[in-house]
Amino acid sequence: MTKKRIATVWLGGCSGCHMSLLDIDERILEVAKLADIVKCPIVDAKEFPEVDVALVEGSVTSDEHWRELEHIRKNSKVLVSLGDCALTTNITGMRNQLAKEDVLNCAYKDAISNDKEGKMPKHWVLLNLLDKVVPLHEVVSVDYVIPGCPPSADTIFYVLFELLNDRVPDLAAERKLKYG
Ligand code: SF4
Repeated sequence: MTKKRIATVWLGGCSGCHMSLLDIDERILEVAKLADIVKCPIVDAKEFPEVDVALVEGSVTSDEHWRELEHIRKNSKVLVSLGDCALTTNITGMRNQLAKEDVLNCAYKDAISNDKEGKMPKHWVLLNLLDKVVPLHEVVSVDYVIPGCPPSADTIFYVLFELLNDRVPDLAAERKLKYG
């Protein structure tokens, strides 16, 4: 059987969903028998390659995220929305309501840990933040959703394993198996 290709991506999130993915522990070896992880936060491929399965954590907070997600969709056979930030925007949804100036002042001037002279950098690159953070499915079509904050490692493994074996994951059945 030809190995499949997996990517994991982290947009507007806290990385907690990726931590949960790592919690599948030794089951990663079962995943590795079936697939190569060709892009993830620690596999620094510059371009997003064509993949069979993309797991996307976090929501869309900026123009850059929007374009990145469209590119991911175009290059992924199956796109999985990973975690509550991807599904509902969750905590990330509160971010863009703050004015950029307030955020910069808070980080560089007002924080107790800063000296009061305020060392605002002369040059910086800020993402073009959207007025409102949006979930993945408002930008592209999503094939599967794994809810939770963070989603459980067992559920992530279940969905991934089913997809890698060309089966349709059934979260209701998985819960029944787990909780009876
Ligand atoms: S769903 Fe929870 S764990 Fe995942 S990125 Fe959002 S805040 Fe972090």
